[in-house]
Amino acid sequence: ESKQVARPEVGKLLPQVKNVIGVSSGKGGVGKSTVAANLAVALAKLGYKVGLLDADIFGPSVPKMFQVEDAHPYAERVDGRDLIVPVEKYGVKLLSIGFFVDPDQATLWRGGMASNALKQLIGDAQWGDLDYFLIDLPPGTSDIHLTVVQTLAMTGVVVVSTPQAVALADARKGINMFTNDKVNVPILGLVENMAWFTPAELPENKYYIFGKEGAKKLAEDMQVPLLGQIPIVQSICESGDNGTPAALDEDTVTGRAFLTLATNVV
Ligand code: ADP
Repeated sequence: ESKQVARPEVGKLLPQVKNVIGVSSGKGGVGKSTVAANLAVALAKLGYKVGLLDADIFGPSVPKMFQVEDAHPYAERVDGRDLIVPVEKYGVKLLSIGFFVDPDQATLWRGGMASNALKQLIGDAQWGDLDYFLIDLPPGTSDIHLTVVQTLAMTGVVVVSTPQAVALADARKGINMFTNDKVNVPILGLVENMAWFTPAELPENKYYIFGKEGAKKLAEDMQVPLLGQIPIVQSICESGDNGTPAALDEDTVTGRAFLTLATNVV
């Protein structure tokens, strides 16, 4: 049977938000959160008002990637409602399920609990005026995805994959989940992360360790745009760990790659 998922009207819940973009992946560990964080920072650098909601209940990584692990967002009373105030860093308004839950406990959550928490982080927070509201979704397909598409009118989804065959197969499934006639959320495009490896001492060399242009071919095959190709670079990993996203520095190859990605998304 084909049951249409009830989707909200544009602007109904967050009328001051112009675009809601989900960042998703078929598999974990392909760099979805890294891309979401850097895309948010790059959009802010381009002058847009940006919010990032970390909805990856099983591995929230926004607190670490923005070095705000100690933040304890508080609620403020506005017009008779208690609204959570997002944390601000690098020009991005941030909220993470990780601010409120011990990550070691997240896997014990029943679906309903996680979905309710997420609805509050969306609807009961002071996101204010935003040009881009990014949502770092959990990998694969889950109740959380359904909650997000039923709660917010999504502009579209950015899908992250490595060029590796197993990652691509799952990315394809993810794309089909969003574009099926029940959910019907547009795919803005694919990001090929870990597209190649370039060692610092041999900057001209590209090693295609996960295969060459797999995501590019998938994008062509599924007729969705290829929004960017991000190489494997040690500094991306390090900057994620120490809370200074690579996109902050546009004088680096990786910083420029994320800025190009951002310009392709807008
Ligand atoms: P996901 O959200 O898909 O689970 P993450 O963004 O957490 O993946 O990335 C997984 C790991 O890979 C992290 O340690 C991250 O720093 C690293 N990583 C992601 N993309 C790159 C890249 N392009 N170059 C180097 N390391 C990367």
